[in-house]
Amino acid sequence: MTLRTKFVAGNWKMHGSLASNQSLLEAVRVGAAGLGAQVAVCVPFPYLAQARAALAGSNVAWGSQDVSAQSQGAFTGEVAASMLCDFGCSYAIVGHSERRSLHGEVDATVAAKAAAALAAGLTPIVCVGETLAEREAGVTDAVVIRQLDAVVACIGTAGLARSVVAYEPVWAIGTGRTASPQQAQDVHAVIRGRIAQSDAAVAVKVQILYGGSVKAANAKELFSMPDIDGGLIGGAALVAKEFLAICAAG
Ligand code: PEP
Repeated sequence: MTLRTKFVAGNWKMHGSLASNQSLLEAVRVGAAGLGAQVAVCVPFPYLAQARAALAGSNVAWGSQDVSAQSQGAFTGEVAASMLCDFGCSYAIVGHSERRSLHGEVDATVAAKAAAALAAGLTPIVCVGETLAEREAGVTDAVVIRQLDAVVACIGTAGLARSVVAYEPVWAIGTGRTASPQQAQDVHAVIRGRIAQSDAAVAVKVQILYGGSVKAANAKELFSMPDIDGGLIGGAALVAKEFLAICAAG
């Protein structure tokens, strides 16, 4: 008996249009019906209303790819967690490596965003992962533990129990270069072990997703590892058939 339900979340990044989204959302809604895995799509902010209209009442949840750490106010361009709730979001990705590297988000920012998501009733999908240089320097475990600890220091293990963690090695994101199932499993075990040091019950329960060039062809093998509870899917989430095949592997 597996303790954790598999979860497959799509990260559309900055892709899509009203017209192209419609057929993708429709195909995912229909194709995900009856699957054993939990399924979600994290769409660009302007398309949240469209996702809600297309997916409400289905077994596909939706969410955002970022959220403000602030609850409201003079923060031009930011989107508050409460606004995401207005559009029926269940999830908010926080700390994606593109936010960290391109938008200067540091561990404390990511932690504050996770806290803001939780405070509004959203489930943060907290991304952690090392760069290629960090892997080659042998500091992978130290990096993901540092990133995780910063979040746990802010939201506690009680907050983590209401979150999802995504391990996304930066060198595998959008590169076509996937971590091997064993490489991914090793880091997932480190993450779960770290959580267990604070709270064994939370460690057993929290879903830890793998992200980085997951496709239909490698999903089953990755998801069969003991500490890999599904995937955060970028490029392959834009192709309904591919995304659904990944969901079916969950
Ligand atoms: C991502 O952006 O979260 C991701 C995993 O991308 P890709 O699947 O394209 O590597």
